[in-house]
Amino acid sequence: RVAVVGAGVSGLAATKCCLDEGLEPTCFEQSQDIGGLWRYTEHIEAGRPSLYPSVISNTSKEMSAFSDFPFPEHFPVFLPNALLLDYLRRYAEHFSLREHIKFGTTVVSIRKHPDFATTGQWNVVTEAGGRQTSDVFDAVMVCSGNFSEPSLPLQCFPGIERFRGQYFHSRQYKHPDLFQGKHVLVVGMGNSGVDIAVEASRVAAKVTISTSRGAWLLSRVFEHGYPWDMILNTRFWSLIKTNLPGPLSWWLINYKVNQWFNHKNYGLQPDKSWLVREPVLNDDLPSYILTGRITIKPGVKEFKDNSVLFHNCPEEEPIDIVVFCTGYTVSFPFLEESVVRVENKHASLYKYVFPTHLQKPTLAVLGLIKPLGAIMPVAEMQARWVSHVFKGLCQLPSQSVMEKEVNEKKKNQVQWFGLTFDEVLKTEWLVYLDTLASFIGAKPSVLGLLCTDPWLALTIFFGPCSPYQYRLGGPGRWEGARQAILTQWERVLKPTRTRVPAGSSSSFPSLLIVVGFLLLLAAVILGF
Ligand code: NAP
Repeated sequence: RVAVVGAGVSGLAATKCCLDEGLEPTCFEQSQDIGGLWRYTEHIEAGRPSLYPSVISNTSKEMSAFSDFPFPEHFPVFLPNALLLDYLRRYAEHFSLREHIKFGTTVVSIRKHPDFATTGQWNVVTEAGGRQTSDVFDAVMVCSGNFSEPSLPLQCFPGIERFRGQYFHSRQYKHPDLFQGKHVLVVGMGNSGVDIAVEASRVAAKVTISTSRGAWLLSRVFEHGYPWDMILNTRFWSLIKTNLPGPLSWWLINYKVNQWFNHKNYGLQPDKSWLVREPVLNDDLPSYILTGRITIKPGVKEFKDNSVLFHNCPEEEPIDIVVFCTGYTVSFPFLEESVVRVENKHASLYKYVFPTHLQKPTLAVLGLIKPLGAIMPVAEMQARWVSHVFKGLCQLPSQSVMEKEVNEKKKNQVQWFGLTFDEVLKTEWLVYLDTLASFIGAKPSVLGLLCTDPWLALTIFFGPCSPYQYRLGGPGRWEGARQAILTQWERVLKPTRTRVPAGSSSSFPSLLIVVGFLLLLAAVILGF
């Protein structure tokens, strides 16, 4: 019996993967519906994430799909939140997940059972309709998300207590009307900050974004108009990124991200350009900077009664409204701190999933990761791995090995990313997926496929690493995986080629022909 906390993306994947493995999931959802973050409500509910209605997914539908359930072909390539929720509803329906979900039920506490050392069981106390119930579960998957608790570090903004204008956290933001004719300051250049600044600038008198670190800005519409993640998240690219000498690989990334526009000229260049922070996906910002609708400024030095001073800028800027887009903190109020400790937004978890110090590996945290790619396949892969571990099909390394790796990662992240803001949770998307897939025997073998199905092998090596790749073989194999991979570009073109009939053509097959030709040439030369 597995308790799943939350029925958002991770919770649905967890419930489905438990069922696949013959485990018995009970999913507890405090609200009355599925969807978590992706279920928009006009009213902000305590303890739940809150979206603004214009949110569109940052990752494309082919890269965001659960690995055995492609998005409908007529859905747009990037998904408005309502369509993403629609997809989650279809998923829940298709795999009959709802009957395993207890709605309106809040998990109050999860404690080790007195026999934990031998059984690994947990006492789970839930509350529904004012009544508390206690149950014993063999294992727990925590899928409660990390976007419910706003981080509003007012202590970092001197003078905010005497600022006479209005200020609030981005979590409170819904519609731009309140910015009408105002001078607006958006603090923080994450995805929320840029989305809100762009919307505000359509009605406000002036909009300024204050960013202490700057950020790489990517367009959803990438090279030749293809979705950014289908071009960048390929095995071919990942191989280059991870094997080129550091400086060369960073030069390449710099070159790629500056192709759209030069970040320096737009005041956006990240502080240490060789460091990675989560890129911001926005198609409007460069043109809004060019047309003067949005101005970029450095970090805030001080607030005054009706204005703000920025670092390295002598002049004060009058401000009416400040939106703090300063991200979120993670917490697990229903767990004891000794089970999952969160320091500086970083939870010490093996592969971002398992606490390292439990006598039995019967508790896992899902979705607590910010990879540079879609989160849905990642949460699903975590769930597949975790259900294998719960079932005893997969072993975790010893406590000391896990601790060593977690500490090593922490050290590296301090070195590479700095223990600040969002960055500690980040990791290379494809490498992470491959690692977990290899634990359960679901990692595709490109070399193996090259002998048996060369066309598919080339497609999965040079083409986007769409999640169906992890259903080609091994446990959880899905019959439709090969077909889903070979038709992925058709589903991308279907909703856009609406005037001329959609064919199967894309830039990709021609790439395959070129590569195939080169391989053939190499074979001929080597043959001689
Ligand atoms: P975020 O990505 O965590 O960014 C928060 C930003 O706030 C930081 O990057 C930093 O910006 C600033 N900040 C944080 N602490 C600060 C401090 N003490 N002093 C000064 N500045 C501080 O938060 P978010 O933009 O709300 O995004 C949260 C998550 O939701 C992200 O993973 C994001 O990708 C996702 N999201 C997705 C979408 C979408 O799919 N369309 C939309 C919105 C958000 P500076 O370094 O620039 O100063």
